[in-house]
This record gives sequence, structure tokens and C-alpha cells, in this order.
Amino acid sequence: MSTSGTAVATTTVVATAGIRKSFGGVEVLKGVDLEARSGSVLALLGENGAGKSTLVKIIVGDYRPNAGTVIIDDEAHPTLTPIESRAAGISMIAQEFNDAPTLTVAENISLGRIPHRRGIVSWREMNRRARAILESLEADIDVEAEISTLTVGERQFVEIARALSSDARVLILDEPTAALSQHEADVLFDRIRRLRDQGQAIVYITHRLDEVFALSDRVQVLRDGEVALLEATESVDRPQLVAAMVGRHDLGTGRPDSTGGPDGDVALRWTGASSPPNFADVNLHVGAGEVVALFGKLGSGALEIGRSAFGLEPITEGTLEIGGQVADLAGPVDAVNHGIGFLSEDRKVGGAFASRPVGENVAVASWPRLATRGILNADVEQQAFNRWLGRLAIRSSGQASQPMEELSGGNQQKVLVSRWLEREANALVMLEPTRGVDVGARADLYRVLRDLAAQGAAILIVTSDYEEVIAVADRASVVAKGRITAALEGDDINMNSLLTHAGG
Ligand code: ADP
Ligand code: MG
Repeated sequence: MSTSGTAVATTTVVATAGIRKSFGGVEVLKGVDLEARSGSVLALLGENGAGKSTLVKIIVGDYRPNAGTVIIDDEAHPTLTPIESRAAGISMIAQEFNDAPTLTVAENISLGRIPHRRGIVSWREMNRRARAILESLEADIDVEAEISTLTVGERQFVEIARALSSDARVLILDEPTAALSQHEADVLFDRIRRLRDQGQAIVYITHRLDEVFALSDRVQVLRDGEVALLEATESVDRPQLVAAMVGRHDLGTGRPDSTGGPDGDVALRWTGASSPPNFADVNLHVGAGEVVALFGKLGSGALEIGRSAFGLEPITEGTLEIGGQVADLAGPVDAVNHGIGFLSEDRKVGGAFASRPVGENVAVASWPRLATRGILNADVEQQAFNRWLGRLAIRSSGQASQPMEELSGGNQQKVLVSRWLEREANALVMLEPTRGVDVGARADLYRVLRDLAAQGAAILIVTSDYEEVIAVADRASVVAKGRITAALEGDDINMNSLLTHAGG
């Protein structure tokens, strides 16, 4: 590489030059250069859909670029394979889980490198190594447990342990803290700093500014598949990074909070609300800028409380306020007119038009605004879809005409979320949002919800999955037998308290 002289302490170990990549005719990387240097942490920052994961998948050989090349130790590899990348000492913790659910923790950590003598696997040695590396991460995980029995956070640690145990020269971490607690993230950061001090080149992908400043030496922002900024971290501030991330195009269309009003406005509030025989005396509120979870087992009444925000359950006593006004909802149409967006627990019944185009699924709730003489045309649907495609990282062909049913469950959920964002809903109520959505896509959807809340949306999720609550909620209320039994915040949102208050 021409950029780094031999006198400086860091050298470029891996680089990309002019990488271009298209999916289904849509170019998602438009000529991207990147340099990972030894003894240095590069933060790769960008909004959902900016192209971060795609770029690093090219560096590990998972994707072949349409143009440009990966350069390892000054040697160009235009046709890099995963095996070549690994052999060159590049290791990645992917955003989606790559683990083998039916194998044990230790087997996963050693995957591909299981210790053996004359062909006989040394289980004891394998377990010992796995235990040592998990201990160094302060992770208290049974190395003989099957992966499928772990929580999402624990699985993330196993992935981290696997990457660390491979003695890589270049470590790429793609949003590794999404499923971790603050303490777990701090432990990981310590490890990353130590690896950096030992000379590893680290690429740390995130969309969180705090992490950029906590960890990185340099920061590179991707926006819409292009490099929008590349600086020494010490020479940039938050506003510069935000501006680089969102650019001009997004600033005027903050749809989630376009009703105005400062952060923290109460979007939904139940006060002493009852609907016999399903729930009684419910007090609950959801503010702009937060994700609130309503957690209860099946039959607890939690779903019915959620449904009451969409006019699907009558409130016979007490009140429901929407945006500070008491609302006596006559039904879903009334609820929509009050600015409520709603995703039911069953996509098929609850509003996903499976055989219809995704664009229509996005635009349908906004047709009074978008239609011409009562008709939505294909261009308008494509424009509506384009407004959300990148922002919510909807994995699809990118064509608004693609039938909804061709998308995965998680991406269908994102399309339904887009429908209500397009409609400029004031509050979003989602029942069992990740039912039927696989683990990787789940984390992705949580990220989208967190991002939307950070931009001012008010989100209520109703769920019977305690991990979901832990993963995504700022606050949680627990429902048992039709009544709120606990209101939890911060560290109190944990498995123990959730399950205890949910009863049984
Ligand atoms: P980021 O990691 O920055 O959130 P990604 O690299 O995952 O972004 O995605 C960039 C764009 O490429 C998005 O619009 C996404 O929908 C699209 N995309 C990513 N992977 C695929 C794929 N395998 N097939 C089709 N489109 C994809
Ligand atoms: Mg990504």
C-alpha cells in the first residue's frame, strides 16, 4: 500500500480498493476503500442498510465483489475465497449467528480446529481450551452445554470466543454488542483493547456513536454504499458523525416523530383501564423515543391490552389516551386515524397481503395521500418502498413489485413496520413481533426498533418471550391474570424478575 510508510508503528494488513457490489440490480456498495491496520481499531459506522455487513463479507470471502479487490499484505485477491481469507488470518464475528446449534459450546469454539492426537479427538483438551477462553471473557457458560440451550447473549459470547481463539491477525466484529448487557460489552471492549495492544488489526462495526468513541482510533462512515467520512476518531465529534451517517436525505423526513413535540411526549397511556374478563385496572404508558414491552404468558391478557390500542378490545372502565387526548376507539379505522400503527401476532391474518407486491404492502395505509384518483400506481409504490428499504435494511430484490411472500418473516415484519412509518403513525403497537422470525433476523429487527426509538418513535411490543424483552425494551410491564404485576426498568429487566412476576 502506498499510504503507510515503513517508519510508522502500524501497517495496513488488509484493505479494499474500489469495491462495488450489487444485489438484484441494486448497487449497495459503490466503490469502497477501507484499510485495517495492525495495532489499531477502525470503527465502521453507518445506518442500517449502509452496506457495512456486505463490505466485510467481501473481506472474508463470503461475497464476491462485482468490481474492486481485497488486498492482503499488499497482494490483491480479486477472487478471494473464505478459506483463503481465513488462512490469511482474517476472522469475523458475523452479525447473523454462524454457530452450530446442535453442537456443544466447546465444539463450536473449536469448530474446524478440534484438537486431536493421531486422529482421536481430545475432548478434554477441547473443553479446557474453551473454558480458558470463556473465563478470560468473564463469561460463565457451561462448555458442554448445547448451543441451542443458550440465551442470545451467551451465543454471542461463544461466537466471540471462537473468533478470539483462532489467533487471527485481523478481527472483524459486526455489531457484536446488540445482544449484550452493558457489563458484557465492557468486558468485550477490554478484550478488544488488549488485542489491539498486541498488534491485531480490528474492524469494529457499529451504529452506536458511544462505541466509536470508546474504542476506535479511526472511524469510517458508510452511507448508501459510499464512504461519507474517514477520520482519526480524536479529530471528530458526534454532530459530524451523525451528519455523515444520515446525510441530507434523511433529515427532513423524520417520520416517526413528525407529529412534533419534544422527546418523551406520551404517545399512549392507559389509566385504570379495564376490559372484562381480559384485563383490569391497567396503568401503562409509552413515550416518544422509547420501546416499552408488555410481557405476559399466553392467556395473561397482555395481547388484549395491546389490541385495545387498536380498537379491537373495548375499554369499559378507565381511559386510553393517545397523544394526550382521551380516545374512545370505535375500531381499527378509528385507531389508524388516531395515529396508531399496529402489527398483529399473526402476519397472515393481521395485515400482510402475502401475494401482493411489497410496495403495495407499504403504501396501503397511506393511499389517501399517495393515490391518484383512488389508485396507487407502481411508481408511487416504488418510491414509498425506497423510503424504507435502506433505512430498515429490508432484504429483498429492492423491487416494489416483488410479492410479499417471497421475503423472509423478519423482512415481512419490516415491511409492515414501514407501512406505519409511511403513514406517519404516532405510536407503533406490535404483538409478538418476532414470532416465526429466525434468530439472526430477530436481532436485526430489534436493531431497527431501537433505531426508530432513538429517532423519536413510540413503540409498544407485546410478547411472551422474555429474551425479547431483555433484548429490546427500555421499560417493561409484566401482566398476569389480566393485571399489571410489575413495572421494570434498567437492570431489573432480567429473566428472573420477568418470569417471577409473570407467575408460574
Ligand atoms: P448494513 O450492514 O450497513 O446494515 P448491509 O450490508 O446488510 O447493510 O446491506 C446493504 C444493502 O444491501 C441493504 O439494502 C440490504 O437490503 C442489501 N442486501 C444485503 N445483503 C443482501 C442479499 N444477500 N441479497 C439482497 N440484498 C442484500
Ligand atoms: Mg449489518
